[in-house]
Amino acid sequence: MQQICLDCGMRVSETTRNCPKCDNPLNLQHDGSTITVDIAHQGERVSEALQKMQSEIDLASKGVAKSIRLVVGSGLIRDEVVLVLRDLKFRGDVIDFEAEPFNAGAILVRLK
Ligand SMILES: [Zn+2]
Repeated sequence: MQQICLDCGMRVSETTRNCPKCDNPLNLQHDGSTITVDIAHQGERVSEALQKMQSEIDLASKGVAKSIRLVVGSGLIRDEVVLVLRDLKFRGDVIDFEAEPFNAGAILVRLK
C-alpha cells in the first residue's frame, strides 16, 4: 500500500517515515479531518467496544485524519474507554483526548 505526502504530493510506500523528497514526517501529517465511530450503540459488550476502538484507532492512525471521535454512550463502556485512552496517551499512541464539550457521550481523540 502507498501513502501520499500531503506537503509535496509524492507517493511513497506505507512504511516510509519521512518523505524522501521534502523530508516531512509523514506520520504527523493530517488533513484536519475527524472520523466519527460509534462503538457503543449496537449492543457491544465492554470488551467488544474496546476491541473496536483499538482497531479504529489503528486504522485511523495510518490515514490522514487529525482526530477520531468515539461515540461511547454514558455507561460502563465510556469509563473503560477513558482508562484505555489514558494508557494509549501515556504510550504516545494518541496525542490527547477529551470528552466532547456539551456531549459527554462522545470522546474526541487527537491522533496527530
Ligand atoms: Zn513530501
